[in-house]
Amino acid sequence: MSEENKNQPRFQQPDPALYGPTKKGPIARFLNPVAGFGVTFSTIFRPVVTEQYPYEKVPTRPRYHGLHKLNRYADGLEKCIGCELCAWACPADAIYVEAGANTPGAQYSPGERYGKVYQINYLRCIFCAFCIQACPTRALTMTNEYEITGPTREGMIYEKDQLLVPLAEGMLNPPHPMVEGTTDADYYRGKVTGPTQEQIDWVAENRPDDPSLPKARATQDETRAAQKVEAN
Ligand code: SF4
Ligand code: SF4
Repeated sequence: MSEENKNQPRFQQPDPALYGPTKKGPIARFLNPVAGFGVTFSTIFRPVVTEQYPYEKVPTRPRYHGLHKLNRYADGLEKCIGCELCAWACPADAIYVEAGANTPGAQYSPGERYGKVYQINYLRCIFCAFCIQACPTRALTMTNEYEITGPTREGMIYEKDQLLVPLAEGMLNPPHPMVEGTTDADYYRGKVTGPTQEQIDWVAENRPDDPSLPKARATQDETRAAQKVEAN
């Protein structure tokens, strides 16, 4: 053996009993297919675990990270303030936000700014939820929805109107003024429980055809009245 070969590591040959051809007798070889069917027959009587998707949708785990949604306050104003923290937190650069200024005639969210443009590129998103953690107003949360599709690459970029939750029962379509006498901090603290009659009147005057008007309910006024009764 040369000096060079002596320094090479020595590999043990595999055990031929493990890796060589099986040495079964004729009866064992005859019964081999029967053993194979044994696995089949024992599985036939177990409960079926195959999912019939897409005909039957199986519910996800409660904390599954699915499609995002942009939330609203109880009076219908949007929670997003266009701060872009979600976009900065995103490791995949999947979010694009452009803020707009709220004005007395066009107030979309409490405070100074709202999310004028909001896009999520679902070709990039890895559903890590860092954006959710970064959002200071809980405007952005995730649903359990996993059927996220689009006809084209551009179609996989979801726009604000696809992400913003619809108005719930009694809410008033923005833009409209904030509840009188409240600040944006009151909204964050959950002190607004619905629209006021003043807000409903404002929308009726400025957008008489607004579809949310017939169902809007002045629940904030009802809450205040109840609080007064309790205080007395
Ligand atoms: S879930 Fe993660 S990857 Fe997707 S938009 Fe949010 S931060 Fe970006
Ligand atoms: S979703 Fe949240 S973090 Fe993103 S811009 Fe809106 S308020 Fe800021």
